[in-house]
Amino acid sequence: MPRHSNSLVESHTVAEIDLSAFRSNVLALRERVDKSIFLAVIKTNAYGHGIVPIAMEAVKAGANRLGVTTVEEGALLRESGIHVPIHVLSTITTDQADDLVYYHLIASISSERTAKAISTSAVKQNRDAIVHLKINTGLHRFGIEPEQAIDFCHLTYHLPNLYWEGIYTHFSNADEGDWDTTEDQFHLFCETVKTLEGKGFYFSLKHVGASTIAIERKDMHLDMVRPGIALFGYQPDIRQKKLISLKPVMKLKTELVHIRLLPANSKVGYGGDYITNDIENIAILPIGHGDGYKRRLSNNGYVLVRGQRVKIVGTIALDQTFINVTNIPGVQEGDEVILIGNQGSEQISARDVANWINSNVDEVLASLMNRIRRIYIS
Ligand SMILES: *Cc1c(COP(=O)(O)O)cnc(C)c1O
Repeated sequence: MPRHSNSLVESHTVAEIDLSAFRSNVLALRERVDKSIFLAVIKTNAYGHGIVPIAMEAVKAGANRLGVTTVEEGALLRESGIHVPIHVLSTITTDQADDLVYYHLIASISSERTAKAISTSAVKQNRDAIVHLKINTGLHRFGIEPEQAIDFCHLTYHLPNLYWEGIYTHFSNADEGDWDTTEDQFHLFCETVKTLEGKGFYFSLKHVGASTIAIERKDMHLDMVRPGIALFGYQPDIRQKKLISLKPVMKLKTELVHIRLLPANSKVGYGGDYITNDIENIAILPIGHGDGYKRRLSNNGYVLVRGQRVKIVGTIALDQTFINVTNIPGVQEGDEVILIGNQGSEQISARDVANWINSNVDEVLASLMNRIRRIYIS
């Protein structure tokens, strides 16, 4: 007989989210940003941290606005009782226009088709939709080309029930400290705004900067900044100067569920991609690439057990990871294992994990699936 589901004992694989660290990051960034509007970017499930609790904490800590990338995320925040302005920073499909308007989400406009769809929905629902015009200055993702901006505004600026509150761009090379390219893009943006204003197209909020700009370039803050990854404790690039003290928000942990003592020359895991050198103690963790713990960490990364760094061995499976605990005295099933975070005096940061797999912190954190339980502590 199955027991009632509310008595299920939950998995010990958890992401512990430290809301006081998050709050401290918001305040530290807030301080650097000074007078500009502070839009906390919490897209992609708050970079894996859980969007609703993070949104609530961000607003409590003083974020003026929130940024997401999908209408679904915006709707979820509204349904959760969040009332601050919410920007959808990516583009929407035209059939999402009704939902966007209904939930009072602020759209990014990069096409005439989208502008018309939102205007039509706004007229139908008898309200105004707030929109921001996106300008492409070199990322070539979304955004109107600067030389087409005037024509574009002639076509869209006076569409009914649209309120053109803002204009913005998103830089392509700021995180790696390529200031020549970034300054060119900034000037192109400023020139485009000036040209539009000369033709009578005004936008009260001009904004360009994400985390790197929020931290390093006060001269580019303009009316609003949009930090994302820094809120979660990491500067976007490892080469950046430490101009601000940020605290990692997530600790990822599990427990050691099984240990087997294997003779030398035993093949471990799918494909036998690891072969024991000697008699070795190999342990199994109940987390795998199905949880978003990247397969590229196979034979290529570390975790912490009993305060020591332990190597990942073999190929990571959907639900399991092998580690080599041969040199850990006293190791036993049930021991806590830290995948991201500290244990004793040892630490593994999301940055370390990113470096091992040639990726960035965004991918490491945002990949962690919903089935990993989030626990919020303050
Ligand atoms: C993701 C994103 C941000 C935040 O970027 P970070 O580098 O994480 O601070 C800001 N603006 C836009 C348009 C984005 O897509």
